[in-house]
Amino acid sequence: MTELSRLILDRIRDVPDYPQPGVMFKDITPLLADPVAFGAVTRALAGLYEVDKIVGIEARGFILAAPVACQAGAGFVPVRKKGKLPAETLEASYDLEYGSAIIEVHRDAFIPGERVLIVDDVLATGGTARAAVELVREAGAEVVGLAVLMELSFLKGRERLTDVELHSLVVV
Ligand code: AMP
Repeated sequence: MTELSRLILDRIRDVPDYPQPGVMFKDITPLLADPVAFGAVTRALAGLYEVDKIVGIEARGFILAAPVACQAGAGFVPVRKKGKLPAETLEASYDLEYGSAIIEVHRDAFIPGERVLIVDDVLATGGTARAAVELVREAGAEVVGLAVLMELSFLKGRERLTDVELHSLVVV
């Protein structure tokens, strides 16, 4: 195991039955509170590609993507839950365990052809990431990669993202 994997694993807290029974929530707040670990994660993600924009997925993806964008010399673009962005948007819907959800991005968030890295904290079933990839492509940008801190491999999200380069700093 790499030093970075160890830093991450030691600082992600398992919270059972949150937000509902049967879910083991991966709480990244201990990692964010540690400047050494947070800095190492930020640098690792910023070093993956040369890109024009870093996309963060609401809400924990924002916390990671914004410092990565600064470090990488790229712009930051939020992908938000429906109804939160003020200007004209594009939207993508995806299935949740019960029901569905919609995410949005500003229609003018990218210059056509811009290179984009999408960042989130946890990859579970892959539904959110899949919708974010479609949204960024629809907005005219090129998705060069998708990066997460932690991949929950037993949920097989990777299988829904076979057309994207997926980087998981830790796989459990
Ligand atoms: P999914 O669409 O199933 O891949 O879920 C990914 C999104 O839900 C990410 O934005 C995560 O922040 C969040 N998420 C899903 N499962 C968990 C979990 N066990 N712990 C923490 N966050 C999770």
